[in-house]
Amino acid sequence: MKWEGGCINLRLVLKKNKHILQKIEEISGENVFACYQCGMCTAGCPMVSEMDVLPNQVIRLLQLGAMEEVINTRTVWLCASCYTCGARCPKGVNLSRLMEAIRLMILREQNQDYVKIEKIVKESLPQIALISALRKFTS
Ligand code: SF4
Ligand code: SF4
Repeated sequence: MKWEGGCINLRLVLKKNKHILQKIEEISGENVFACYQCGMCTAGCPMVSEMDVLPNQVIRLLQLGAMEEVINTRTVWLCASCYTCGARCPKGVNLSRLMEAIRLMILREQNQDYVKIEKIVKESLPQIALISALRKFTS
């Protein structure tokens, strides 16, 4: 009985957040349901030690329609868009594109920047870090 209630709640959550998930899939061009949670992406991620939610867990949260949790995680901002996860994924899921789509959704919704452009220009960052930072800039 308890299990059935859980299913109903999950269906309600999925229905409520379906349009957000569709938008994320549309922007990224990725199908989150292709992921079968093998963890290969997380095992190769260079930023994983700093993340509060593991990369494969971000996809699981998307599959479950848990958008609040996805939006509030620091992980999407720590992702360096290095594409290692996409290269390792046996299902061809490009997680870095999904991370980018989530960031875009948040920035468009809140209309605020998570990086200071003056600061990143002054610092001599490696090119990949500079490009990654600029991807998080709205203007
Ligand atoms: S490597 Fe691919 S299939 Fe495996 S958990 Fe990551 S995204 Fe999912
Ligand atoms: S693109 Fe982001 S999530 Fe994927 S391996 Fe690189 S830092 Fe990790």
